[in-house]
Amino acid sequence: MQTTILDCYTDEPAGLGVPPYLGVYPRYIYGSLGGEANYLTIDDLRLYTYYDNIPKKPKPSQKTNIKTLNLSINSKNISEILKNTTELIIIAGVHTPGKYLSAIPGTLKEIQHITKDLNCRKILTGPAIFGSQLYGGSFSEQIDPKSFDAVQEFRFDYNKNDTAIKGASIIKQIPDLRIVEIETSRGCTRKEGCSFCLEPLKNRFEFRKYKDVLDEIKQFYKLGARHFRLGKQSCFYSYPYIEQLLSSIKKECPEIKVLHIDNVNPKMVTEEKTKLITKYCTEGNVAAFGVESFDKKVIEANNLNCQPEDVIKAIKIINKHGKERGKNGLPKFLPGINLIFGLKEESKNTFKENYNWLKRILDEDLLLRRINIREAVIFQGTELAEIGNKYLKKNRKYYWKWRNQIRQEIDLPLLKKLVPKGTILKDVRMEIYEGKKTFGRQIGTYPLIAGINKRLEIGKFYNVKVIDHMLRSVVVEVV
Ligand code: SF4
Repeated sequence: MQTTILDCYTDEPAGLGVPPYLGVYPRYIYGSLGGEANYLTIDDLRLYTYYDNIPKKPKPSQKTNIKTLNLSINSKNISEILKNTTELIIIAGVHTPGKYLSAIPGTLKEIQHITKDLNCRKILTGPAIFGSQLYGGSFSEQIDPKSFDAVQEFRFDYNKNDTAIKGASIIKQIPDLRIVEIETSRGCTRKEGCSFCLEPLKNRFEFRKYKDVLDEIKQFYKLGARHFRLGKQSCFYSYPYIEQLLSSIKKECPEIKVLHIDNVNPKMVTEEKTKLITKYCTEGNVAAFGVESFDKKVIEANNLNCQPEDVIKAIKIINKHGKERGKNGLPKFLPGINLIFGLKEESKNTFKENYNWLKRILDEDLLLRRINIREAVIFQGTELAEIGNKYLKKNRKYYWKWRNQIRQEIDLPLLKKLVPKGTILKDVRMEIYEGKKTFGRQIGTYPLIAGINKRLEIGKFYNVKVIDHMLRSVVVEVV
């Protein structure tokens, strides 16, 4: 029997597995198979199915085809691998759709279509078993049970850390640089979750032992990985072993280039923990706050995790300790804010509240790394599913205007403060072409997109200078 893992990429409120991130699912599954499986990406399968398996360099007038960019080392032998595969484990599931610069996760529709002629047992796993949706503002896609021989959850047993250790070597099948997403806990720290979120339904709350997390990182380090994000958890500040974990990583893996975190409940932010994160993690780090809304009516109706006052307090603490510019050109550690449109009780007043609180942050000279705004996805089983798309339908006509006003009047001035013209950003890795332009990012969490008006080598690192600001990106030149 030969097993192949097909990574169609995952994105959840707590955990990212879209390139350049390497998510936990392919690794744990690979580990549970004793490291005996082929690894393919959906990009490999798209190239094989639609392009005769011939990668094409984009002409000077073309965009990089990001649907086939992230190939594994097995791409060249894919025909042979698929012929010999008896079991295909398909990992998929987007629960928090975003915009991806250099990859596109597979939708269920695409996966069902692209795997339909493969002659093997097909097992669907990952977050997709709860549904998946690549576009905000919609209902989740449902699984067509006829397309798979089994739809089953894969559960990583925290008492069997060997699975994670063995799974690390899957990285040998990936030729490009990856940021390794590391798990410190699962489930939600709160008893009753937010109305839109599947995390409390997916997982009972559990912390992973810090020694286990460390051992996994050490294994990746041994294999050459140097970029990590402690991103698979609902709140990093809730982790009880922050100091032990971060100081041990620093000691045992001294040449780590990137160590970032993700997901923070603003209510849990303290000066002490912020100092630890600033001390041990690398610069450009972001605490993404799942604020979702500043409107108290919406906060209550959707059981969101914090009040606007908690957010401001947490922003002040992180700014106080993290605002200083690091050697890569970005502040060491800043907050980020996530907002969702389409929640229960959303009204015109919701926008006013969101705008006014964000304006206050700008006026108080506080920095945010970024503001993410997305439209809710309705997943079966969540509380939001009980009212469906009622508010999305009612308010959709305003979303462009609301979003644009925040982008123009808050985001842009914030970005100008964050990286004023003349700021040098170090080690920006070029990722895609768009006509004669090249777009790249630093390696790390929520990296700033930098565009340059010429073609530079993809995959190569450049030091660049900021010469202009776009709505969510900067224009740069090489220095
Ligand atoms: S705080 Fe809300 S969004 Fe975050 S994991 Fe818990 S339920 Fe999900």
